[in-house]
Amino acid sequence: MTDDFDLLTIGAGSGGVAASRRAAGYGARVGLFEAGRVGGTCVLRGCVPKKLLMYGSQFHDAFEDAPGYGWTLDARPRFDWPTLLARKNRELDRLNQLYLGMLDKAGVTLIPHHARLVDGNTVEAGGRRYRARTILIATGGHPVRLAVPGLEQALTSDDLLEMPELPRRLLIIGGGYIAVEFAGICRGLGAEVTMLIRSRHILNGFDDDIRQALEVEMGRRGIAIHAGVHPASLAPVTGGFALTAQDGRRFEADLVLCATGRRPNSAGLGLEAAGVRVTEAGAIAVDDWSGTSSPTVFAVGDVTDRINLTPVAIAEGRAFIETRFNGNPTQVRYANIPTAVFSNPAIGSVGLPEHEARARGLEIDVYRTGFRPMKHTLSGREERVMIKLVVDRATDRVLGAHMLGADGPEIVQGLAIALNCGATKADFDRTIGLHPSAAEEFVTLRDKVS
Ligand code: NDP
Repeated sequence: MTDDFDLLTIGAGSGGVAASRRAAGYGARVGLFEAGRVGGTCVLRGCVPKKLLMYGSQFHDAFEDAPGYGWTLDARPRFDWPTLLARKNRELDRLNQLYLGMLDKAGVTLIPHHARLVDGNTVEAGGRRYRARTILIATGGHPVRLAVPGLEQALTSDDLLEMPELPRRLLIIGGGYIAVEFAGICRGLGAEVTMLIRSRHILNGFDDDIRQALEVEMGRRGIAIHAGVHPASLAPVTGGFALTAQDGRRFEADLVLCATGRRPNSAGLGLEAAGVRVTEAGAIAVDDWSGTSSPTVFAVGDVTDRINLTPVAIAEGRAFIETRFNGNPTQVRYANIPTAVFSNPAIGSVGLPEHEARARGLEIDVYRTGFRPMKHTLSGREERVMIKLVVDRATDRVLGAHMLGADGPEIVQGLAIALNCGATKADFDRTIGLHPSAAEEFVTLRDKVS
């Protein structure tokens, strides 16, 4: 049996849902395949649950800081993981329903089956065939474990978000976004956390000053970071697991989280049958219009492994629909995409880090300041904020703005607008500060550090 659509979207995550709704808004008949729950990584296994857990973990600091402001906590606060887990899951259920309602209202037909391409215009799902002029693949990605003996016993971030008990000792392999964020969450909730990274520092690609300052802050909070560790094996021992590194170092913990990257969900989609080319890393190869090597098949989001962030997938999905269904050729601008690491304290970052500006051969001025946030003058907490601007010497344009500190992500979102407007250091300087705030330091930076 054949059903005819204008657009068939595979994958109901951020990119697929945004594109499908927009296309339906333009009058297209849209079929959306999703074998699991609607919502994708961001809503179900990523941004949303992670941030809810992060909020939960931040009460730890709040309780510690409160006495400095005159509060007496009569009993030692206690944390119950199953309560937070259940409340988090209830919120995800609510969001899932919200998404279903949005799709229904938009007139998108949800087809709850795994989909496989038969050719560039045909999809097979649930024993039926569906045809459309255009097919959009938005199947996202999944976490991968290192191919090391025994490491199949390690959790991924998907598992950690559902684990029934909080470990007393957690070992984290990796030093990227997920590793650093879960380190902060689990430490805040009371676990002993040890991170094993293969490089010298966490968060490769971020500005060196900022990521090294975060390591100091994580250290102050009792997170141990071991650099230059290459896992060789993982084995069960009494009460947990022992990880042995290639150089013989040994680390024990109750649970191990492998946070060493994600891979595109491109397998089992029948891509070959439709003539869709995949890169060596398993990503669907696309051009600037999200077009694949098949003229009728397009792809957006993590499955294309460009910049793997939710708002980017949404922007790619909408740009594609504007182009294909609204006669409005639109490409995503990948410059100055802000990003955050919801570590404790958090990082907000937009534009070029210092090392990248130098690697591009640009003549730059660097402005940087570090200070103790006002809140901690009374709380007594040892914590420092770092703020940094990278400025093009020739044009005075601000190329990069970076912050480590509470609210860094909230502050940097605003700065991303300024950078996209081409703001210069002089524009920053003539902006009056908002006092008293940490953010005002961005407009009062006077001394070049290099
Ligand atoms: P990342 O790519 O951020 O980090 C992977 C980490 O694993 C790095 O520290 C890397 O080390 C390490 N690693 C990779 N291969 C090996 C290996 N063979 N042996 C030892 N260590 C290894 O991946 P994540 O899984 O943390 O996150 C995936 C993506 O999801 C992110 O890149 C981001 O796009 C997105 N994300 C965004 C978030 C946000 O916006 N806040 C939050 C979470 C995820 P090295 O640095 O040395 O290469």
